[in-house]
Amino acid sequence: MSKINCNNCNLVFSSEFEYYAHHITAHKSQSTSIKKILILGGGFGGITILRDIEKRFENEKVEITIVSNDNYFLFTPMLPQVVSGLIHPSNISTPIRYFCKKAKFLQATVESIDLDQQLVTIQRSFDNKVRTLEYDYMVLALGGKSNYFKNTNLEKHSFSMKTIEDAIAVKNHIILMLEHAAQTGNYKLQKTLLTFVVIGGGFAGVETISEINHFVRQSISNFYKSINPKNINVVLISSKDRILPEINEKLAKTALDFIEKEGVTVLKNARAVDAGEEFVMLNNNEKLPCATLIWTGGITMNQVISELKCEHGDNGRVQVDEMLRMKNHDNVFVLGDCAWIKDAASNSIYPSTAQHAIREGKVIAENLEAVFDGKKKLKRFSFNSMGIMAIIGNRMGIATIADHDLSGIPAWLVWRSYYLSKIPTFGKKIKIFVDWSIDFLLPRDVTLIGSIKKKKTHGIHITENIPSIKEQLTFKF
Ligand SMILES: Cc1cc2nc3c(=O)[nH]c(=O)nc-3n(C[C@H](O)[C@H](O)[C@H](O)COP(=O)(O)OP(=O)(O)OC[C@H]3O[C@@H](n4cnc5c(N)ncnc54)[C@H](O)[C@@H]3O)c2cc1C
Repeated sequence: MSKINCNNCNLVFSSEFEYYAHHITAHKSQSTSIKKILILGGGFGGITILRDIEKRFENEKVEITIVSNDNYFLFTPMLPQVVSGLIHPSNISTPIRYFCKKAKFLQATVESIDLDQQLVTIQRSFDNKVRTLEYDYMVLALGGKSNYFKNTNLEKHSFSMKTIEDAIAVKNHIILMLEHAAQTGNYKLQKTLLTFVVIGGGFAGVETISEINHFVRQSISNFYKSINPKNINVVLISSKDRILPEINEKLAKTALDFIEKEGVTVLKNARAVDAGEEFVMLNNNEKLPCATLIWTGGITMNQVISELKCEHGDNGRVQVDEMLRMKNHDNVFVLGDCAWIKDAASNSIYPSTAQHAIREGKVIAENLEAVFDGKKKLKRFSFNSMGIMAIIGNRMGIATIADHDLSGIPAWLVWRSYYLSKIPTFGKKIKIFVDWSIDFLLPRDVTLIGSIKKKKTHGIHITENIPSIKEQLTFKF
């Protein structure tokens, strides 16, 4: 095993475990003059704070570290457009390192958080090695994961729609189903192969089904002449008696009428209760044959968040005060999908959207500066969303902006302009604009990429049991 040198005192250690135990006990107190800010999560919340404090603390003696299990920031509102091949996957993903001028980025998975010792244990993705990070101030922005409500069959047999891998996998799967369907003369089998079901009538579900509907119908008409378009069955399952509960009923009805006209079947007041390789079972005992099932039915917390010893709200989200600090832990700020934030005026809980995560991020950055300054008062979080919008088909959008409803091409243009302006780098903005422009001229690509072979990185794996943080702290040399 290779030796590890301690940069602070030149001692040499034979294991990483010994080194970190030494570092924590010997050097933690020495380094208190430089405060450590640790950001967990590189999504909308984490990146907003990172970009803001990089500017605020440009000339301050502060160590900023950001940890995320992906090395990029993902612009989720455009994820459905990756599924339909409208946008190239890498164009909605920006490497986190692009934002790190002063900060250090670690691509790793957060394994556990010890709020009392102010330590975070992370696992590196390439060799599974574990290490412990200290912090003076921590920002929790770990988002959430798909909530299958403990239904293991639904989890096993459906695609989720949270990551770039999800979007690429769904796109490839759809193309594979078209290839299979083009080769079978069996009507029943072809119908199953051409049935695409999305569960969840919220924004993510409606945008995903609209993109799939357009992609499948356009691709079949352009390239799959042996497929009878009458066999295409694109289905949206909504547990409510409407879709898009986030917007007013009139606009939601406009959206419903449009997607139904485009060929989407919407099953209202329906819940998926079971699934297999080729079917989904509904709560009315109807068994719907389908080869593609996509789940957008809500989020829950990952284990790191749900196991935190703090006050939790609905779905395990972390309760915070008006300044967005974790209750009883003033040096921990929480935001985005993993935060449970009450609006003091209306007594309601702020929704989990990118729009909110960005606003919360700006307030936390300001509050971190106020904490460092010691004199400024911390800011209370309060936010009234100016609007909400969605793309629901080819050149069709819906939007509510400052209480005004918009639909059709104007809403679609507003959506595109607004979200393009939110893409964090100029280069990616240009690439997305080019993708959108090419779509006016050329049909979508139906290249089946297939499965990607992954070469294993042969790192040195820790073979001993991972010591607890307490053990690391009390380890004697
Ligand atoms: C398909 C889809 C469409 C959407 N459309 C919209 C929209 O149009 N408008 C809108 O406002 N919102 C939209 N949303 C919601 C929006 O994406 C979320 O509300 C927003 O991303 C929340 O930001 P966040 O920073 O809390 O979490 P995220 O953006 O999810 O970021 C969490 C980060 O933490 C990392 N992470 C998680 N667990 C670990 C771990 N254990 N260790 C290390 N890193 C970890 C993840 O890799 C990620 O980088 C959409 C969501 C989806 C899925």
